[in-house]
Amino acid sequence: KAKKVKKPDWLRVKLPVGKEYAQVRKIVDENKLHTICESGNCPNMGECWGAGTATFMILGNVCTRSCTFCAVATGRPPEYDEAEPQRVAEAIATMGVKHAVITSVNRDELKDRGAEVWYQTVKKVKELSPETTIETLIPDVKGNWDALYRMIEPGQEVVSHNIETVERLYRRVRPQAKYPRSLEQIKLTKEAGKRTKSGIMLGLGETPDEVHKAMDDAVAHGLDILTLGQYLQPTKMHIEVAEFIHPDQFDAYREEGLKRGLKYVESGPLVRSSYHAERHVNVPI
Ligand code: SF4
Ligand code: SF4
Repeated sequence: KAKKVKKPDWLRVKLPVGKEYAQVRKIVDENKLHTICESGNCPNMGECWGAGTATFMILGNVCTRSCTFCAVATGRPPEYDEAEPQRVAEAIATMGVKHAVITSVNRDELKDRGAEVWYQTVKKVKELSPETTIETLIPDVKGNWDALYRMIEPGQEVVSHNIETVERLYRRVRPQAKYPRSLEQIKLTKEAGKRTKSGIMLGLGETPDEVHKAMDDAVAHGLDILTLGQYLQPTKMHIEVAEFIHPDQFDAYREEGLKRGLKYVESGPLVRSSYHAERHVNVPI
């Protein structure tokens, strides 16, 4: 087994402190909400929460899938909470966020994949905060395209669906997902007139050629915006980091992505799918 690679300096981050941070903490707790910032052990919590923003995770905090990079608990989720859309919308209104990012766990056991809760959440946020723009980072609907159309219907500005890694690594990284199916989901989202976004984690052993191929595939399926960030192992139980990608390589990927036809590429070690998301609202489509 390979020796564990040491975490480099460029991954050092600010500690979560300050008034804004405490305020976000309070609103999240009071409304009994989940955030992927916490569930995913995101290294940017100091920055994002300190700036008064967070990414809410709806449909509970137990996922039917078991992606090997992800810190969210796997299992059979309890019944979902019908009041959640209202609480998310109220939290976003209280926080006064200009751009809200919402994501969810996978609910493969639900016939509609959670689409109705998605629809209600976005609709309620728009009702309570008409000025707020929204990005929805939606799950793989497992080919239930009616569910997809319902999820993307209520007026969000950006629809994200992460392909997460290159095709060869799917079985190890996203065992219940399929690369062509995620691409198809992006294609249908684009054809429905949406601004499309996706993300790939680097450092799982993928080669630059494979990353370039994923970029080409994504562009061919109508992708507008791509985020590239360093994978970090949330616990020892999760898939190991194969490599820490140098910031220069992230810059090179950004250039390459733009050359290959993406409209916007957010690329850097600490980039997460919801990082600097407000920059992506106005990307022309
Ligand atoms: Fe949360 Fe996204 Fe910021 Fe991480 S980058 S703290 S997940 S909003
Ligand atoms: Fe985590 Fe999403 Fe995979 Fe569920 S589907 S394990 S929340 S990455």
